[in-house]
Amino acid sequence: MTNPTVRISRKGVDRWKAGHPWIYAADVEPVPPTLVGGEVVRVEDHRGWFLGLAFYSRESKITLRWLSWEDVAVDADFFKRRIEAADALRRRALPDEQTYRVVHGEADLLPGLVVDRFGDYLSVQFLHKATEQRKELFADLLEQHFKCKAIVNRSDANVRRLEGLEPEKGMLRGSIDGQVTYREGHITLDVDLLTGQKTGAFLDQRDNHVMSAEWAFGEALDCFSYVGGFALQLALKAKNVTAVEISDVACAQITANARRNQLGNVNVVSANAFDFLRDTLDEGKKFDTIVLDPPSFAKNKGAIEAAVRGYKEINLRAMQLLNPGGILITASCTHHVGEERFEEMLDSAAADARRRVQILEKRGAGKDHPVLLSLRETRYLKCFVLRVL
Ligand code: SAH
Repeated sequence: MTNPTVRISRKGVDRWKAGHPWIYAADVEPVPPTLVGGEVVRVEDHRGWFLGLAFYSRESKITLRWLSWEDVAVDADFFKRRIEAADALRRRALPDEQTYRVVHGEADLLPGLVVDRFGDYLSVQFLHKATEQRKELFADLLEQHFKCKAIVNRSDANVRRLEGLEPEKGMLRGSIDGQVTYREGHITLDVDLLTGQKTGAFLDQRDNHVMSAEWAFGEALDCFSYVGGFALQLALKAKNVTAVEISDVACAQITANARRNQLGNVNVVSANAFDFLRDTLDEGKKFDTIVLDPPSFAKNKGAIEAAVRGYKEINLRAMQLLNPGGILITASCTHHVGEERFEEMLDSAAADARRRVQILEKRGAGKDHPVLLSLRETRYLKCFVLRVL
């Protein structure tokens, strides 16, 4: 069966040839009404020259997502090889780990597919129609490759609405009895893959969690704590840790995780971190180590300025709350706010706080979250370690 054809404009061809894996609707010529979305299509230029294969999307502004430069069969074997290649990278990069991101969408040449592994359990997101339509195939391939006990479908991400898909979650294969357990350095964490946020955990921060223990000392504060990934690492070195989190379910999980690791120095506060930072500053309290790891503040370009103001507010307050020589570990997962913009924001916060600030480390996501050079969106996580003088 031949794949349907989609033609792209000269501008689209330039983008395609420059290696960009996404072609937007404006650069695509009208397509036959028989295409419903989710198909693998042949991409051609205006003269009918073959350019490659892509997933087609009808609803999304991103109409084409690169799959191949060559005219190959995009079948079960094709996806099997891509999954195997993605896992082979992790086996090389993290040979001793059983918990890691196996597939990071476009960055693993599998657009619209995210797979996190927690030992015998997988948590999967199908973010576009193309992967949604093939979810049984992906479940089969993943089951065969990992011999896993269960696969959780965590496609309850709002980005699916851009594809005309409702968010959805549930068991895809097998069943899970309670929580799954994994290790990050010296800390053991329990998470709930079905009810937790995103795929159940923020594995992209794992290396940064472990790193935070190296810098932690004195009185520590972890804002936007989720299940305590940073807080518990800080607790290994700091005298006391305050973990601030707005979700009560997550708060209960931090408490349970602290107990599991026999850490008696973690104080969990259920609060809005913005309010907590302001109130604590008013009270005159000081800290030696602060972590800020908020959720994404800008889901689209229009929200960038507001996002930067949000980042500045919390970073400025954190700088003011730190004793001289204190450590600020500050992260942003908003790809619309790039590393340079983030650094400018920190510079301006430091000036307003009248503090001199040193950059000690600039970090990103772990090695199981590769960045695709031609797709900025895959370079989303920034994590700076600063010393506030
Ligand atoms: N630091 C965590 C991940 C944070 S994700 C880790 O490394 O694993 C962002 C977290 O912030 C979520 O748990 C969310 O519930 C929480 N959150 C969102 N808005 C908040 C707010 N205004 N105040 C406090 N917590 C908030």
